[in-house]
Amino acid sequence: MPLIDRLATIYRQTFGDFPAHIVRAPGRVNLLGEHVDYNDGFVLPAAIDRATYIAFSPTNASHSTLLAVDFDQRASFSPASVRTKTQADSSPLPDWSLYPAGVMWALMEAGLSVPSMNAVFASDVPRGAGLSSSASVEMAFLLAWQTLGGWTLPPMQRALLGQKAENQYVGVNCGIMDQFASACGVEDRLLLLDCRSLEWKTIPLPKDVSIVIADTSVRRKLTSGEYNQRRAACEAAVRLLQQDLPHIQALRDISVEEFNRLAGKLPPEVRRRARHVVEEIERTRQAEALLEAGNIREFGRLMNECHVSLRDLYEVSCPELNAMVDIAQSLEGCYGARFTGAGFGGCTVNLVASEKAHEFSQALAERYEAETSLHPEIYISHASSGAALLK
Ligand code: ADP
Ligand code: MG
Repeated sequence: MPLIDRLATIYRQTFGDFPAHIVRAPGRVNLLGEHVDYNDGFVLPAAIDRATYIAFSPTNASHSTLLAVDFDQRASFSPASVRTKTQADSSPLPDWSLYPAGVMWALMEAGLSVPSMNAVFASDVPRGAGLSSSASVEMAFLLAWQTLGGWTLPPMQRALLGQKAENQYVGVNCGIMDQFASACGVEDRLLLLDCRSLEWKTIPLPKDVSIVIADTSVRRKLTSGEYNQRRAACEAAVRLLQQDLPHIQALRDISVEEFNRLAGKLPPEVRRRARHVVEEIERTRQAEALLEAGNIREFGRLMNECHVSLRDLYEVSCPELNAMVDIAQSLEGCYGARFTGAGFGGCTVNLVASEKAHEFSQALAERYEAETSLHPEIYISHASSGAALLK
């Protein structure tokens, strides 16, 4: 049964009537610009055709009651109880409910009304795979409360409130890309976001090209320690480079030529990390013109370069991601392949000629399984629209 119909059925079993509304908010995949968001760079994500759906209605109760179908768990909280991260009965909020509760909290902080709702929700975005299931949950609940709250925010404002919820309420130090892509996605378009100014535009992706996402099924994550070390290396590079280039604020502000001239002043590890960032930002700058011209072959080459750079310079890949990318790049119809997300596990993203996408996916799955004894999930996806009220 399609997910929406299943949710409506479960809603009726749970709350006794039909849901008044249904919202959808997609996950996302990033095609280029990895580990550059916190260096004021550019990212190039797309919303995908996997999403979180909520079936919900307003209620006169003092608490919102949520059923997370994928966890088979309920949580109830009110504007007062979210402040202490507790439920109606004073028990602590379960972990999954921190995302919707955090959204309620961020909306309250912004002075927006958050009427109580009964809600049943589920998602076909795999969790913890680098496709931003968390942002899709946040953007779905933001839209649900907007539907009931009598206020309207532009998508980027919703994204910023979702990021605030995740940063300050859940306690995850994420950038703006995930919520942005889920809120602002456009059918068949990639989204080019300037992480400094938050200006963005869409870029076409030809219809005969598919985005194939390959989940290694490895769930090792970049730990916050590793992540903070990478960020610290980038900050150290800026400080050292400021001795010659006092105007620079972030690695975004230095060209590849300037970097090559001054790189010798950086200690080896800091130099490798910074080189990835400076060159990756240059790749995202080149990507715009290539995609506008429909030059998928060259764009794919930039994706391949990105993978090598993440593997060898930023050192955030892992054997399974490397195996998945190596196999993909050897298959017919593949323009480019790299791992996507923070690293150490999760998914690769592949641009593949649509007519070859099925064969490609099958061969990739078979060869990956033969090499690693792991069973991968492969999704043939396409760039989809952002969060929306469906009913
Ligand atoms: P991702 O890369 O998928 O965003 P995160 O670790 O950031 O991974 O977020 C995953 C968390 O988001 C889950 O552990 C859960 O708390 C919440 N979440 C994601 N999908 C769902 C869902 N379908 N139902 C309930 N909570 C979800
Ligand atoms: Mg997340």
